[in-house]
Amino acid sequence: MKQSKTLIPTMREVPADAEVKSHQLLLRAGFIRQNASGVYSYLPLGKKMLRKVEDIVREEMDNAGAVELLMPALQQAELWQESGRWQTYGPELMRLKDRHSREFALGATHEEVITALVRDEVKSYKRLPLTLYQIQTKFRDEKRPRFGLLRGREFVMKDAYSFHSSQESLDEVYDRLFEAYSNVFRRCGLNFRAVIADSGAMGGKDTHEFMVLSDIGEDTIAYSDTSSYAANVEMAPVVTVYEKSTDAQKPLEKVSTPGSKTIESVASLLNVPAEQCIKTLVFKADDELVVVLARGDHEINDIKLKNLLNAGTVEMAAEQEASELFGAPFGSLGPVGLPSNVKIIADNAVQSIANIVCGANEDGWHYVNANVERDFNVHQYADLRFILEGDPSPDGHGTIQFAKGIEVGHIFKLGTRYSEAMNAVYLDENGRTQPMIMGCYGIGVSRIVAAIAEEFNDEKGFVWPANITPFDVHLIPVNVKEESQMAAADTLYDSLRQSGLSVLMDDRAERAGVKFADSDLIGLPIRVTAGKKASEGIVEIKVRKTGDVVEATIENVVNVIR
Ligand code: ATP
Ligand code: MG
Ligand code: MG
Ligand code: MG
Repeated sequence: MKQSKTLIPTMREVPADAEVKSHQLLLRAGFIRQNASGVYSYLPLGKKMLRKVEDIVREEMDNAGAVELLMPALQQAELWQESGRWQTYGPELMRLKDRHSREFALGATHEEVITALVRDEVKSYKRLPLTLYQIQTKFRDEKRPRFGLLRGREFVMKDAYSFHSSQESLDEVYDRLFEAYSNVFRRCGLNFRAVIADSGAMGGKDTHEFMVLSDIGEDTIAYSDTSSYAANVEMAPVVTVYEKSTDAQKPLEKVSTPGSKTIESVASLLNVPAEQCIKTLVFKADDELVVVLARGDHEINDIKLKNLLNAGTVEMAAEQEASELFGAPFGSLGPVGLPSNVKIIADNAVQSIANIVCGANEDGWHYVNANVERDFNVHQYADLRFILEGDPSPDGHGTIQFAKGIEVGHIFKLGTRYSEAMNAVYLDENGRTQPMIMGCYGIGVSRIVAAIAEEFNDEKGFVWPANITPFDVHLIPVNVKEESQMAAADTLYDSLRQSGLSVLMDDRAERAGVKFADSDLIGLPIRVTAGKKASEGIVEIKVRKTGDVVEATIENVVNVIR
């Protein structure tokens, strides 16, 4: 490709709103341009990188036996209503109406579309297993789009879905795709770990995230230095540690908090930090009620609780049930006077702050100075534990370290969650109707481009690795008005390409300084410069990574590079 004929708008200045290296350099080197918050154009170089990652992903998916298709980004609301996610997905789902006022979503993910498709087309166990994937644009109205391509509102994902007639078959495909994912990230040159994205109490076999270790990662992973143990801390039991207050022995005091409904309103009324106000959640676990005391910003979900309690069924208790049991209006549960058949568990963050504010189980009242150990009869659960740096690893090998990670992939055994809700069934060997067993597997293709960009750069710009670069060679005639230099460049442009290398040729009538600075910024692995010695048939070959320079005759350039 000739630079005079393409669009590579480089910039010298660091864009003010770009916080991380990859975002800055992708803008500066002319790979991307922002359109709206979290929405980008991939310029020719950016598009090349996207394509390179896609090619690797395709190859590995195909090798693993998955088959590519393409589904619509525009999805009928009806499908999402069938699965129940029209209600539960929340504001991240971009919704719109057509001219007839019919509701649609822009695909944030495709479980609904593919489950409906396979439900309609596959009826017999003989057609299973089936693994389908696509590479496509996804839309998510992220609360905080940031870091350029790392968290976009419109981004490219590879998503795959598998359908099975047995758990063993799902396990097999899951393992195969686990390997395929590892190959993808290895080939992209990324330093990654597969982590269990689950509390681990279920063995962590049902979902894994692939995390690229990076200081700018938004996830924290806990891993062992000498074993394969690694978990997403977000999913592990709470890890935040607070200093215990020194005046922990203040007496419990009931205070009036008229009209306060949210943690924020209680906090501002009482003039205490919101972190000190705890949330009480009532769950029903089999035949008992469980009250969970949780820090306001911690999400205690069904799965986590199920793990903690080792319970078969865990569901939010009905308000009715709770209020009957506690003989008071539902809303908050104070530390005093709870019946003995109620179990209380407190997350670790709550246990470690002494003077917390909690509900008084009475509208308009709260307790201050509550002390979990003193005022609650807290039930101890084996799995409700801290994971801290320096702890022994749960698998008994090595000690725990923390690192920041960028989630580049996520695989999940869905089971029959979607097939049951959407009636995707097949006939088994005995002619009986069974729900299909499913798995889903995502890779952030555009996020990988940013993750690679984040990793491979120096103070001058990108330093792309040889197997994942927009072009292999940057060919630079220093002075395009000099005939011998242009002739050498033209000859090399052809011979390099004939040898199978991709070439970007800077045929612009720019000053040498500009060309070299742009070349460093763009960061192709090899630079071939036709300068003064071109008239003697000699050019210079420079390795971007090491800065090593050698001279070669024009005829010999391909041999030297290869
Ligand atoms: P995150 O935790 O970063 O929000 P997620 O868990 O919501 O990601 P998944 O639903 O697991 O994402 O989607 C599969 C993959 O798609 C992720 O592993 C990630 O690589 C990529 N991805 C998700 N959201 C974005 C985004 N906003 N921009 C770019 N890539 C994304
Ligand atoms: Mg997300
Ligand atoms: Mg995630
Ligand atoms: Mg995920």
